[in-house]
Amino acid sequence: MRFKGLIACLFCVISVVGQQKPKQIVIAASTVFDGKGGVVHNTRIVIEGSKIVRIDPKAGPVDYDLRGLTVLPGWIDSHVHITWIFGPDGKNAGGGDNSKFAADAAAANARATLMAGFTTVQSVGSLADLLLRDAIAKGTLTGPRILTSAEPLMGRGDQTGTPDEIRAFVRKQKEAGADLIKIFAAGSVRRPQMLLSQEQLNAACDEARKLGLRSLVHAYKDAVDAAARAGCTQIEHGTLASDDDLKLLVQKGVWLDPQAGLVMENYLLNKDKFVGTPGFPEEAFQVIKEIIPSYHDFLKQALKVPGLKIVFGSDALAGSHGRNAEEFIDRVRDCGVDPMAAMVSANSLAAEALRMSDQIGSIAPGLEADVIALDGDPLKDITAVRRVVFVMKGGVVYSNKKAQKTL
Ligand SMILES: [Zn+2]
Repeated sequence: MRFKGLIACLFCVISVVGQQKPKQIVIAASTVFDGKGGVVHNTRIVIEGSKIVRIDPKAGPVDYDLRGLTVLPGWIDSHVHITWIFGPDGKNAGGGDNSKFAADAAAANARATLMAGFTTVQSVGSLADLLLRDAIAKGTLTGPRILTSAEPLMGRGDQTGTPDEIRAFVRKQKEAGADLIKIFAAGSVRRPQMLLSQEQLNAACDEARKLGLRSLVHAYKDAVDAAARAGCTQIEHGTLASDDDLKLLVQKGVWLDPQAGLVMENYLLNKDKFVGTPGFPEEAFQVIKEIIPSYHDFLKQALKVPGLKIVFGSDALAGSHGRNAEEFIDRVRDCGVDPMAAMVSANSLAAEALRMSDQIGSIAPGLEADVIALDGDPLKDITAVRRVVFVMKGGVVYSNKKAQKTL
């Protein structure tokens, strides 16, 4: 019947009109790093909701004109301590406490980190991370996407517990909401002795694996080999490991997250705030100055090992939140890391290490719209990483210092 058909058709039109097309955001760019080492020129990134939907040079109208800047995926920092703060007296207060002051200071750390171009961080870790992570995910606070280990497993020799007790500790972190497990298997670069036996390490890493969690192990020297044998996912720091240890990481597919300077430079820069607080006697600062070259040498050594997956982690803590990108400069300037490799280590490679390649780390359709822009070309001048002038996370613009609103 014609009449019926007409009504059906009208209904069709109304329902199509009623279905609002999701709002698109179009970014125009002259230089885009895709996060995997590729560069695309003169194109446009089209975003719907929180996701990139296509790369299309003809898309329009343009909402943000980022031409003349370097556009790339939001950086991922694989190793931060997001709740580590200076206390009300201005002194190092470690991971903070349950006070309002500590919560506010941690929120400020998160905001500074996002504004510096880091749209995802892995905090390793503190129980206080959980609240901050969830508040940011809900949109109550501004900050990067946070993954956290919750409470780390601190190696204390036999006192750490039996393998069964260690397994229970790992399960407890998972129940608390941990995204990964952090394990301290060695002391410091000065005292690199192992703090966990092979058996204890095996239990920790195996339990994490069974729960589907990654295990990140703070390790120096012999602990690097032991952690790799235990089946851990990633080595933090790693200094004093031998070439054979590093080859074992390649063989076992273990990631390496070395540091090239920021963490040490930050202790020296903020000496007045650290000195006299636990772990930071006056004499520690001379030692810190002296060990910086050993970190540079270690990264240079690691770069020579074919197939070793080196990821970006700044170890940002009180004083360096929001300055995470200084670690790029150290890696490139002091260790000879190729600038594009440095960028990729905080983009697609870091996403892979986080097992989040299908969500973040590249500028590609289907991925979260985490997009940043630098005023300058980091391939020519790595200090451009200090000049983050545009930050979008999940399709929301948080900082826009240079872009014109429309063409
Ligand atoms: Zn750390």
